[in-house]
Amino acid sequence: MVATIIDGKAFAAELRDKIAMQVARLKAEQGITPGLAVVLVGEDPASEVYVRSKGKQTVEVGMASFEYRLAAETSEAELLAVVDRLNADPEIHGILVQLPLPAHLDSDLVINRIDPAKDVDGFHISNVGLLGTGQKAMVPCTPLGCLMMLRAHHGSLSGLHAVVVGRSNIVGKPMAQLLLGDSCTVTIAHSRTRNLAEICRSADILVAAVGRPEMITGDWVKPGATVIDVGINRVADGDKTRLVGDVAFDSAAAVAGAITPVPGGVGPMTIACLLANTLTATCRANALPEPAGLTV
Ligand code: NDP
Repeated sequence: MVATIIDGKAFAAELRDKIAMQVARLKAEQGITPGLAVVLVGEDPASEVYVRSKGKQTVEVGMASFEYRLAAETSEAELLAVVDRLNADPEIHGILVQLPLPAHLDSDLVINRIDPAKDVDGFHISNVGLLGTGQKAMVPCTPLGCLMMLRAHHGSLSGLHAVVVGRSNIVGKPMAQLLLGDSCTVTIAHSRTRNLAEICRSADILVAAVGRPEMITGDWVKPGATVIDVGINRVADGDKTRLVGDVAFDSAAAVAGAITPVPGGVGPMTIACLLANTLTATCRANALPEPAGLTV
């Protein structure tokens, strides 16, 4: 079998077009411009790249982008004061504090200071609780993007066995919640899981969110399964580096029914879903109907 490639880049472009159209309507009909604030503390090079890319795409869909770059030695009190200011600013509908924060700052404390209605990353404890109880939440962007691609590929996910490898708060756990919400039978695997290969082989949907280059090989994949590779790993390639996922793409693609590539799979959908969440937050803040297809 040769897998269908799930083209995250194309999905993301389509979602951004839909968002841009809705933003233009909001501006014309309501005089409202959705605003996204991104707070970056310190100079982590990977975070710099993400923040730049987020800012560029925010502007491209017609939203207002606000960037707050704070020194690595910023105190917790100073950072919390910035979050408080953004919470109170009516021009800002979404707030994202780029993680990881420098070690002296308590990420949980900072994230939980964000107004849950503006928490476009979906990491605030209120949104985690709302998602876990099947209520209207802000949904974390990476799993939201994965679910959108899975729904588009499969239609209904009901009754399928989904195996999520990884149990982080950012990807693995919310991914499992979303799949459960779509009536999958969900298994969550992690570093202590026994017989991992065997469990993966029983999956109709296999989501890899581990952070280990090409750990999941074709012989772990059930023939015809859908494989979603969340991993982003930089590996040496001669004197250069290249990006690979948590799945060994060629061997898995020879067995799977469908697979997301790295790069060009889950990654582009993550930023598109951040914009989708910002638009959702704007509509909710103004008691306007939410356009279809932006969230779950
Ligand atoms: P974390 O490091 O927070 O979590 C990794 C998870 O993988 C943990 O639950 C860990 O288990 C599990 N794990 C580690 N080693 C193994 C193993 N040998 N076998 C089984 N499970 C294992 O990572 P994240 O969830 O934040 O990210 C996962 C990957 O996704 C990374 O490559 C990251 O770069 C990428 N990512 C990509 C995004 C995108 O937009 N495409 C966005 C966010 C992340 P345990 O809990 O037992 O330690």
